[in-house]
Amino acid sequence: MKPAAFAYAKAHSIEHAVELLGKHDGEARLLAGGQSLIASLNMRLASPPMLVDINDIAGLDRIDMTDGHVLIGAMARHADVERSSIIAKHAPLISRAMPHIAHAAIRNRGTIGGSLAYADPAAELPACMVALGAKLEIAGLQGRRVVAAEDFFKGMFETALGPNDMLVAVHVPAATAQTRVGFEELARRHGDYAIVGLAAAAQVAGAKLSDVRLVYFSVGDAPVRARGAESAIAAGDIDGAAAALSKDLLPTADLESSAEVKLHLAGVLLRRVVRQLQEARA
Ligand SMILES: Cc1cc2nc3c(=O)[nH]c(=O)nc-3n(C[C@H](O)[C@H](O)[C@H](O)COP(=O)(O)OP(=O)(O)OC[C@H]3O[C@@H](n4cnc5c(N)ncnc54)[C@H](O)[C@@H]3O)c2cc1C
Repeated sequence: MKPAAFAYAKAHSIEHAVELLGKHDGEARLLAGGQSLIASLNMRLASPPMLVDINDIAGLDRIDMTDGHVLIGAMARHADVERSSIIAKHAPLISRAMPHIAHAAIRNRGTIGGSLAYADPAAELPACMVALGAKLEIAGLQGRRVVAAEDFFKGMFETALGPNDMLVAVHVPAATAQTRVGFEELARRHGDYAIVGLAAAAQVAGAKLSDVRLVYFSVGDAPVRARGAESAIAAGDIDGAAAALSKDLLPTADLESSAEVKLHLAGVLLRRVVRQLQEARA
């Protein structure tokens, strides 16, 4: 299928992009990697009057260290994030998740900003950002603001972004010697969206884990923190954590799996990921 007709403009700066969005009264869409947007235009699930291309904005693909944080610009491509030595060293959870996102061709074009703004409940990166306590920097008509990842994802394909807002960057607290991370997902084929996935981070002191964050994806409308299981893991009670999942998660059936199957798989992933958290840092 072909998309409905639309106007097209190239933004030369963040401010220019936001200005163009503002001119179209919330109806224009930003074009990043196009991997999700173009498909939805072609299927006529969306028909915005204008696309604002942000691919040529200088510096928006930056991956850098600033003030104890890893800064990832919204236009950093999945493939560049996957290959980044800064991410591997200071945000290893993201490195572990990257190969699970779609296929290489899609990762060459898809961007971290596009993935977070799209907020697919089965996507890996939103769960990673919640697990890592990342902050998302947003530019809007009123200026810049910063929103914690936990408050950013509001529901299915729904975020704290307003119609004239642009996600500019993600700020991820850098891992320390005490940080442990774990990542697992189950998908029918490699590269498919997950049936169930789990991104986790914790701090370790001796044999004890603290500040445990277990964030599931593809079990609800948005990333879901399993808070009962987190407390049980911090108390060293893995069986208790597995039992707590039945209260922490309320998965709904999708085309592939029943709610019961998803809950069972969530328990399988929990045990695998806790083993990763307990391993020495690579
Ligand atoms: C076959 C296939 C399989 C896939 N599998 C997976 C998978 O397993 N896991 C996964 O996570 N993803 C998967 N994806 C999605 C992929 O990761 C996309 O790259 C991503 O969802 C969107 O990124 P993009 O840069 O292409 O954004 P675009 O498609 O350009 O934009 C997506 C949406 O976000 C908005 N947007 C983009 N950038 C910004 C910004 N900076 N600020 C505000 N709004 C913005 C756009 O206006 C649009 O509404 C898959 C895609 C395909 C086609």
